[in-house]
Amino acid sequence: MISESALHEFRTSLRGQLLLPDQPGYDEARKIHNAMIDRRPAMILRCAGVADVITAVKFSRSHGVVVSVRGAGHNVAGTSLCDAGMVIDLSAMKGIRVNPVTGTARVEPGVTWAELGHELQAFGLAATGGYVGTTGVAGLTLGGGLGWMVRKHGLALDNLLSADVVTAEGQLLTVSSTEHPDLFWGIRGGGGNFGIVTSFEFKVHPAGTVFAGLVLHPASKGSEPLRFWREYEATAPEEMTNSALVFTAPPELPVPDVLRREPIVGIGGVYVGPLEVGERVLRPLREFGPPAADIYQPMPYSAAQTMADFLWPKGIYNYWKSSYLKSLSDGAIDTILDFYSKAPSPRTVVVLEHNGDGAMSRVADDATAFGHRNWPYNFLVTTMWTDAAETDANIRWTRAFWEAMRPFLAEAAYVNYLGEVDEAGIRSAYGKKYERLAALKQKYDPTNFFCMNQNIRPTRTTPAAMTA
Ligand SMILES: Cc1cc2nc3c(=O)[nH]c(=O)nc-3n(C[C@H](O)[C@H](O)[C@H](O)COP(=O)(O)OP(=O)(O)OC[C@H]3O[C@@H](n4cnc5c(N)ncnc54)[C@H](O)[C@@H]3O)c2cc1C
Repeated sequence: MISESALHEFRTSLRGQLLLPDQPGYDEARKIHNAMIDRRPAMILRCAGVADVITAVKFSRSHGVVVSVRGAGHNVAGTSLCDAGMVIDLSAMKGIRVNPVTGTARVEPGVTWAELGHELQAFGLAATGGYVGTTGVAGLTLGGGLGWMVRKHGLALDNLLSADVVTAEGQLLTVSSTEHPDLFWGIRGGGGNFGIVTSFEFKVHPAGTVFAGLVLHPASKGSEPLRFWREYEATAPEEMTNSALVFTAPPELPVPDVLRREPIVGIGGVYVGPLEVGERVLRPLREFGPPAADIYQPMPYSAAQTMADFLWPKGIYNYWKSSYLKSLSDGAIDTILDFYSKAPSPRTVVVLEHNGDGAMSRVADDATAFGHRNWPYNFLVTTMWTDAAETDANIRWTRAFWEAMRPFLAEAAYVNYLGEVDEAGIRSAYGKKYERLAALKQKYDPTNFFCMNQNIRPTRTTPAAMTA
């Protein structure tokens, strides 16, 4: 219980808005991307700046209030929302400052990749963000960051130069490779376990106009388009990052009739480099089949960054499962196509990302807390539906699909794609780095104040474990 006077004092010490359950705007503020997550925080603080974040941390600690931290609210496991505690909501902190001379950008934690892409485009620059523009820069970077330049420039966190972090003590630290390097190591992959990042400094890259788009094949072509893609990827240069999708055309997508009647195998990609080279590199992929539709074309990188957004609309029901693949075998391809043909919801999208064999894999494994750098393919089933009555059928189908895929899955997952918070998933995301992370957690957050996340439990460990 918090007294009226303590709450009043807290409210008057803030610049941002404090929303309680009986206030207008509260219900809207507790909605996140995934409609499956329906939690009722005791308060939601829409922070206006760093001072609000520090005040919120100190207030929550002194009153024993559970906190969750929200960036853009895209985490499908719903870690940005808590029941009965305080949501430290950073989504209104939208500052972006691009420095084209140094090729860097300062970004506040409420910014999405589409917003950052828009600002960078004015200078012909781009950041290695996510594949989707609506996701938050904050959560995505702290867990990894897979996007359209991952093969050329690595993960989003590989491009992080420094960050401002509010610790569990309410202290503001700037971390980089030279300042608090252990904490800098931990926030690059360890998610929100170690503090609240209030500012990110990124290295950004020339991009300008890129050759990007999607080819679409009807699923009745069978496994051939995906098998072809696998061969194509084996020799594709690092400037090229591709993903394959199995999906059903949503009504708003203008496609030929053949693609309305059956599921679609799409192969999307972005070539970051000279347009004429991109056109040449992409030609085999665009000629194979030929596809029923080809929307590859020159476009600003900021448009490529958002071209897949329509497939993941905000506010519908989501249940995800994901793991790296041991390899993209024929068996894996056949299983994916077979299961998709029985998907209960046409909103569901299966994603195969080819992230590896490039910059991400060249970074030393122990350079950051990020779990796994050497599996070339990531597999992700994003089950989505619009009617709550269909929840059980969709979850059942996803689990059966997952069981059928097991022979092809590595025991390694990407932390940001985990659809649920569970110990097995967290361990599979961090692998052998878990012990080092737990020791770091003991140093920076021994009471597990930041617990609403893919949680690493603090352990009393010898200093040697910190650098193991
Ligand atoms: C439609 C969709 C598309 C996606 N596409 C991609 C993709 O292309 N590539 C990719 O890598 N991932 C992708 N993801 C996964 C994404 O990386 C995670 O969902 C990530 O958590 C989103 O970040 P957010 O800030 O929106 O998260 P939120 O849900 O707001 O936060 C998630 C967690 O991150 C932590 N956190 C957030 N902000 C901060 C902060 N400032 N300081 C400390 N901790 C913080 C907290 O622990 C919080 O619980 C996608 C997710 C969705 C739903």
